[in-house]
Amino acid sequence: MTIYSSRQQEVSQRISSQANKAKWTDWRWHIRHTIRDIESFETLTGIRFEPEDRAGYERTLEKFPLSITPYYLSLIDTADYANDPVFRQAFPSVRELDIGPHDMADPLHEDEDSPAPGITHRYPDRVLFHVSNLCAMYCRHCTRKRKVGDEGHIPRRAQMEQGLAYIRSAPRVRDVLLSGGDPLMLPDETLDWLLWNLRKIEHVEVVRIGSRMPVVLPYRVTDDLMSIIRKHHPVWLNTHFNHPREVTRSAREALAKLADAGIPLGNQSVLLAGVNDCPRIMRSLLHKLVRNRVRPYYLYQCDLSEGLTHFRTPVGKGIEIIESLVGHTSGFARPTYVIDAPGGGGKIPVTPNYVISWATNKVVLRNYEGVITTYAEPDCYTPTICDRDCASCDLQLKEQDAEEYAAVGIERLVSDWDDTQSLVPEGTARLDRRPGGDNAQEGSHDG
Ligand SMILES: *Cc1c(COP(=O)(O)O)cnc(C)c1O
Repeated sequence: MTIYSSRQQEVSQRISSQANKAKWTDWRWHIRHTIRDIESFETLTGIRFEPEDRAGYERTLEKFPLSITPYYLSLIDTADYANDPVFRQAFPSVRELDIGPHDMADPLHEDEDSPAPGITHRYPDRVLFHVSNLCAMYCRHCTRKRKVGDEGHIPRRAQMEQGLAYIRSAPRVRDVLLSGGDPLMLPDETLDWLLWNLRKIEHVEVVRIGSRMPVVLPYRVTDDLMSIIRKHHPVWLNTHFNHPREVTRSAREALAKLADAGIPLGNQSVLLAGVNDCPRIMRSLLHKLVRNRVRPYYLYQCDLSEGLTHFRTPVGKGIEIIESLVGHTSGFARPTYVIDAPGGGGKIPVTPNYVISWATNKVVLRNYEGVITTYAEPDCYTPTICDRDCASCDLQLKEQDAEEYAAVGIERLVSDWDDTQSLVPEGTARLDRRPGGDNAQEGSHDG
């Protein structure tokens, strides 16, 4: 779609008779004119809903508000809107009010794993930093639906200072992921201030921005913004395209600007029923992304957040899609399919199985075509038994380049230098029966 197509002219002139191309490509104009009610939506699209459907939409909006940028609205195919992937991601469904027995307001326990305002610290070396609770467009499939449109959550600089103070005090944090809301809703000066403050922290090696602006409001990617980000490299950016229809000319121009500014680009899609739960659609999306220098990063199984029941697919659909990609297309066009574990366990990769069997000296594998093959393992491998004494090791690693860290979880079981033999769940009846009671640990030296 060209920038300022006839459809876009029509939408902008219905919003304001003075609208023109300069206004259309001004991101602030879009923010001022986001569509927040059903009536404006009808006026701008020419779609008319039945009264009973309307009443259902109004009820849904009381719980989960609406916001669509004129740009994203202009992508809706009004002739077949009910099946349109843009419409489905932007416009409410009464099914959002179906709260299933497994649905939760905060399935990922982001609020519980929060040591400072706006910070979710889940993994050892990186944090999520919520710097804005605003979004240009409210995705109907948002995992943080509990907070959408909640003006009380807009962080001010004073609150961001608290997050910065936490990061300063946590020397193992080498990667800061700016999230929200959409961090690119912040004014340029605030972003500059924030990136400058993060850059001053010596242990912060990379900053990542998670933003859907290239999809819902590509005009946010301005030359001014690029010159700010350039000053603070390395800055990475992950965006969120879900359907090939979203890769418009405006979006492509935004992606080109970002890539030309030296920002490595990634994409995180959510697997959504009725939007992209199809190997052909997904492949078309991934190919469009790599053509535009965006590396597909994650494909998320839809979270157990409230209001998303109608978007969820079985996990098998995700595995089927990955099966259709491995071997069939470029490795760098393939995202990692993940389930973000309810309860705050973090992202868990899920893939089809390729290892079929294993013997003492060979592995039996299958490829994407169904060829079953064997890989003979070396019979003369001299293992380097690691006791973590890097100074006396033959491998050429300068000790100052190697981080000291304590192993966690399964890594402890597979390492030579940690003598944990098993990980045992707490509080089983079997352990309680043992002398010493519920704290007795089996086979483990330090739990
Ligand atoms: C997703 C996420 C990250 C980043 O994870 P990566 O796998 O490194 O992309 C960090 N913190 C939290 C809380 C997250 O949800």
